[in-house]
Amino acid sequence: MVNANPHAPDLKHLLQTVFGFSSFRANQEAVCRAAVDGRDLLLVMPTGSGKSLCYQLPALALGGTALVISPLIALMEDQAAKLSALGLRVARIHSGLDRAVARQACVDYLQGGLQFLFIAPERLRVPGFPEMLAKHKPALIAIDEAHCISQWGHDFRPDYRMLGQHLPALRPAPVLALTATATPTVQSDIVEQLAMERPAKFIHGFRRENLAIEVVETPVPERARVVCGLLADPARRPAIVYAPSRKQAELLAGELAARMPAAAYHAGLDAERREQVQEAFQAGKLDVVVATIAFGMGIDKADIRTVIHAGLPATLEGYYQEIGRAGRDGKQSRTFLMHSYADQRTHDFFLNRDYPPPGDLERVYRALGENPLPLDELRNSSKLDEEAFDKALEKLEIHGGVKVDYNGTATRGGPGWKKTYTVQARHRAEQLEKVVRYTESSACRMAALVGHFGDEEDANRQCGVCDACDPEGAVLKLFRRASAAERELAHAIADDLRPVAYKAAGTLQRGLELAGRVGRDELNALLDGMTRAGLIEQEDAVYEKDGEVRRFRKARLTEKGMEMRRSLPLELLIADGMVEEFGGGRREKPAKVAAAKPRAAKKAEAQVAALSPGEEALAARLKEWRTAEAKRLRVPAYVVMHDRTLNAVARSRPKTPRELLLVDGMGSAKVDRFGAAILEISAAEI
Ligand code: ADP
Ligand code: MG
Repeated sequence: MVNANPHAPDLKHLLQTVFGFSSFRANQEAVCRAAVDGRDLLLVMPTGSGKSLCYQLPALALGGTALVISPLIALMEDQAAKLSALGLRVARIHSGLDRAVARQACVDYLQGGLQFLFIAPERLRVPGFPEMLAKHKPALIAIDEAHCISQWGHDFRPDYRMLGQHLPALRPAPVLALTATATPTVQSDIVEQLAMERPAKFIHGFRRENLAIEVVETPVPERARVVCGLLADPARRPAIVYAPSRKQAELLAGELAARMPAAAYHAGLDAERREQVQEAFQAGKLDVVVATIAFGMGIDKADIRTVIHAGLPATLEGYYQEIGRAGRDGKQSRTFLMHSYADQRTHDFFLNRDYPPPGDLERVYRALGENPLPLDELRNSSKLDEEAFDKALEKLEIHGGVKVDYNGTATRGGPGWKKTYTVQARHRAEQLEKVVRYTESSACRMAALVGHFGDEEDANRQCGVCDACDPEGAVLKLFRRASAAERELAHAIADDLRPVAYKAAGTLQRGLELAGRVGRDELNALLDGMTRAGLIEQEDAVYEKDGEVRRFRKARLTEKGMEMRRSLPLELLIADGMVEEFGGGRREKPAKVAAAKPRAAKKAEAQVAALSPGEEALAARLKEWRTAEAKRLRVPAYVVMHDRTLNAVARSRPKTPRELLLVDGMGSAKVDRFGAAILEISAAEI
């Protein structure tokens, strides 16, 4: 192989000889190149994708010492141990270590004897420490879990915020910011905070091919029953269930434990118990853990088949991290999100608790004087109760309104806190709104998440397996075929949209209601059905009225929708609550139950009838085609067609698109894409 630059280090060689890996993972090489070239870079890739190598390898290629800043002692210890095991010279400095060890680390660092120095961000507050670092310039600076820098990030660390001011003294080393979770807003905040220079950005790998996402409106009292019902099937285990509160985690774990090995995990349990639970789950002795968000950081279990959210998550970032724990082994896995309007009120409560009114902060701020004040005195003169005071002080400190030093006295900070605090509180509220809109959407779930993380290149491809892409494959969510009246209404909507760029849902409704045909909920359900069928696209939009921002949905016809004709078959599926075996008790209109086959019946049907030899042969041909097609599209085979659909096609041997459409599991999107090929195969086999 010819190297363009003869002095360029052979990264591949280092990868193999030092790290013992045979090849780079996706994007790793490009990232390493950029770092070796001295570029600042921002790396946003999911957990487990191999980000550490992206600073470790360039560090070795560049020579000298790499300074690694990491906010979690456990992560730091883990990385340091791995590097030491490779025979590299590594030291670390954090609060969990002996003073003598830290001192020795400094000596080694200054003598240039280290290849890696790991430090916790709060070290930078120790007088003299940043100056010590600057005496021996690092060759590279890596900032792990960089989202902690951003006040928009979900676990903002005040200590991380100071990093920016210390970096200039450590330059000209390239700065590498690494994180698994940063929305575009957080990304630009990181770049700005660290004053990164024209950073190379790598934002990749958020799509998870083997996760099928379902989002189902579920009343709170029904959730325990649904969770138990889902997990009764051993094929859906091991599983993690996320519960919105400790109490609910306990209750749910109790119910599950009567049926299978299950336990609760939350911050209210002592460390020993938490460790027990985590280890038992890891070792396969527990099938299910019901956790609050405190669970999962240390989990490295590849075979988790199901992740259930028994309540609305607070942010899409957190939600994505949590569902991402399923299916690390690459096998098909399913995730369920249960929500209802009641969840929003719970979140509003937490939001008010965690983001107290600016007035509370103001009281503390005003009580501060020129001279340092002990915290007790400050609390007394602020006249807030203990809890409110602690919260207000914490927020005020984060936003620079107060400085609290190690011996517990407070000094007044700058007045800028008010603005940044208000902005942050509003941002939190918006994050929740995004989750709510995600649950309300009828577009591809995976595409929505990929887009949320800012990987725009990859945000338009449909996953094929979520409840929006493959409604008939949904386990929990029930869909029924649209009635003749609804299909006619869909045509009327298409007629209405055809001449215009788009229409607001409300405008459509007013137009159609004149004809006395439909209410708002029914219209929304129908629009969602049309979106799933690829006939329209819906988009959230805002307008301002009386100084207030209001949201509305607008709909536009897709190319496929443009071609809708009353003379052509129209396949529409309307969301219709939950499959009966899990939670169907609340159904009011028995007529609809008849319209849709309960999931249990469907499953039985698919399992019972064995294929005749002729059908068997056709199924085999179809499988061959499916394998080739999956390869071509680079998706798993079941994305092209489920086994049960494939068998159903073999059994019914359709001759026309219309017949094919009648096969269970063949939606119109599938017929559009694959219909011609499938029909050709079934015709040839006769
Ligand atoms: P992240 O920081 O992105 O969550 P890590 O850097 O901890 O991920 O890497 C996850 C795992 O992948 C580690 O066990 C690491 O050794 C492994 N890994 C990284 N790069 C490669 C590679 N090129 N080949 C094989 N394994 C790799
Ligand atoms: Mg990492």
